[in-house]
Amino acid sequence: MIEAGMDVARIGLAHGTIDEGLERFHRIRSVAADLGRRVGILVDLPGPKVRAASFGDSGVDVPTGHTVELRTGTDESSAAVIEVDYEGLLTDVQVGDRLTVGDGGAILEVSDKSPDKLLASVVHGGRLRGRPGIHVPSDRLQMATPTDEDFIALDAFVDAGVDMIAVSFVRSAHDIRRVGTEPHPRGPLLIAKVETRAAVDNLPGIIEAAGAIMVARGDLGNECSLEDLPHLQKQIIRDCIAGGRPVITATQMLESMITSPAPTRAEASDVANAVFDGSSAVMLSGETAIGADPVNVVRTMSRIARRADEEMDYEAWAERLAELRMTDEDSGSASVTDAMTMATWRATQELGIESVLCISGSGFTVRSIARFRPEAQILGFSVNEATVQQLTLSWGTTPMLIAARDSNEDMVKEAVRHAKAEGHVRSGESVAVLAGSDSRSRSTNVLRIERVP
Ligand code: PEP
Repeated sequence: MIEAGMDVARIGLAHGTIDEGLERFHRIRSVAADLGRRVGILVDLPGPKVRAASFGDSGVDVPTGHTVELRTGTDESSAAVIEVDYEGLLTDVQVGDRLTVGDGGAILEVSDKSPDKLLASVVHGGRLRGRPGIHVPSDRLQMATPTDEDFIALDAFVDAGVDMIAVSFVRSAHDIRRVGTEPHPRGPLLIAKVETRAAVDNLPGIIEAAGAIMVARGDLGNECSLEDLPHLQKQIIRDCIAGGRPVITATQMLESMITSPAPTRAEASDVANAVFDGSSAVMLSGETAIGADPVNVVRTMSRIARRADEEMDYEAWAERLAELRMTDEDSGSASVTDAMTMATWRATQELGIESVLCISGSGFTVRSIARFRPEAQILGFSVNEATVQQLTLSWGTTPMLIAARDSNEDMVKEAVRHAKAEGHVRSGESVAVLAGSDSRSRSTNVLRIERVP
C-alpha cells in the first residue's frame, strides 16, 4: 500500500485491541523504514461509538419489514436479535427514533420499549457484516468524547510516538481541548472528526482548536439529510482552507472495491470532486481494512487523485483563496505567514518556479503554502522529526528532515543541497526558499529565490 501511494495509515481503534493496534503501528513504522518512505500514522479513537455485536465475517441478511430485538450485549448478533455494546441503549433511545446500522446498511425504527429490550421494525433491510456501527442520534447520546477508553488508548499511542490522533463524535472545541495532549508538533496533530450536527454548528471553534479536520461522511450522513451532505462537505473544506487546516474527506469513497476490482463511475467522480473541493487528503476505510485487494484500491485512488490534480484550475483556486485567506486572524505572526506564502505562490507562478523549499518549525508555514495548491512541488523541511511526520497529511508536500544550522544562510544552503541530493531539484534551476530569518523567528519572514548550484 505504501508503494501504491499511501501517505498516512489510519489505525481505527473501534476494531481490535490496543495491543493489536500497537502491533500494526510498529509494523507500519518498520515497513516504511525498510522502504525509505515517510508514512504518517493516525490513530482514530472510537469515541462514544455504539456498535452491534458481530454478525460474522460473511454477514447476515436483515430483511425489510421484519421486526428485530435490540438488547445490550457483546456476544453475537443475528437477524432476530441485535446485541448492542451501549449500556445507555434502553434509557437514551426512544420509541420513534431511527437507528442506522453500518453506514446505511440497514435502517431500523424503534417501535416499542421494555425494561430489557427495544423492538424495532426494519425500514430498509440489508446485509450486515462484522461489528457495524449503530448510529444513535448524537443529541440522544449521554456519553462524552473522548471516553475513558479513549484516554487509555491515547496514553499508549502517545507513548509510542503517534503522529496524529483523530477524535470521534466531537461536538465542540471543548471536546478537542479535553484531549489534553501537548500542542503539536510536540504532541500529536489532533484531527477533529466532523460527524455530528453539533460539530457542524460549532465548526469555527473546532477548526481553531484542532490541527486538522476529517469530514467523516459515514456518521455525518446519518446525522443530516443525505442531500445536505455534499454541500456540508464543501462548506467544511472551505472553512478549513480559510483556517489553514488540512482537511480529510472520508468514507465510502471507493466502497464497491471492498469486493470489486474496479470502482463505480460515481465513486471515481466522488474522489475527483473531493480533490476539486480542496481536500488535502482522501481516505479509505473498509476498502483497505477488509477489502479484497487493498493495494489495488490505493493504486486506483492515487491515480484518480493525481489526474484530478492535473485538471485543477490553479488560477481560479488562488483567486478564491484570496477571499478566504486568514486576513482576519488577530495573531500578528499568522498574517505575516499569510502574506509571505501568498508572495511565494505569486513568485512561483510569475517566474515559472517548479519547487518551493519551505523550512518550518511546527509545519504551519508548509500548511499555509499548501493552501495555495501551487503547481510547484512543495518540499517541507523541518529539523523536528515530529513535524516532518505530521506533514505527511499536508497537500502536495514531500516532508523532509533537515540538519539544524546556525544561520538562515546555512539553513537555506543545507535545504537546497539536501533537495538536490534526493533528486527533487536539478543543478541550474531556480527554486523558492521560504524560512524564518533565524532560528528564533516565530514566523516565516524570508523568501529567497536561489539558483541550485
Ligand atoms: C465516518 O463516520 O465517516 C468515519 C470516518 O468514522 P469511522 O470510520 O471511524 O466510523
